[in-house]
Amino acid sequence: MSALHISGALYEAIRAHGEETYPHECCGVLLGNPVQGEWRVTAAVRTGNTRTDSAHNRYQIAPAELVRIQRDALRQGLDIAGFYHSHPDHPARWSSTDFAEAHWVGCSYVITEVANGKAAVTQAFLLAGTTEDDKRFEPQTNLVLD
Ligand SMILES: [Zn+2]
Repeated sequence: MSALHISGALYEAIRAHGEETYPHECCGVLLGNPVQGEWRVTAAVRTGNTRTDSAHNRYQIAPAELVRIQRDALRQGLDIAGFYHSHPDHPARWSSTDFAEAHWVGCSYVITEVANGKAAVTQAFLLAGTTEDDKRFEPQTNLVLD
């Protein structure tokens, strides 16, 4: 199983974000660099959830915002390593919608269960495969670094 390397401070920050937006989903972008084939996340960017119609169980990042984040990241020598969002009162497992809307093959998708307003399980999934046709989510270990 591959691993997502993330600093303890960032790990706590994305979990705290889910608590802040509860009972709505939070979402954001993870930035970092690949190290021996695995992402080392060194920054997280909070984004707005544009799914105001169903923000308790959907998330969406505006394309223009994502383009801006990617441009800023490249300027800092970073890449988009993945995405994170929360599942208010729902397990930290990807939904069929999460899978259908995941298009960044090679990136990590991190989901935090927020139960009664408190961050519970955080789980990372690598979007493996090469195309939209053979993509699949593979569970990853969270390697939380100091
Ligand atoms: Zn989800």
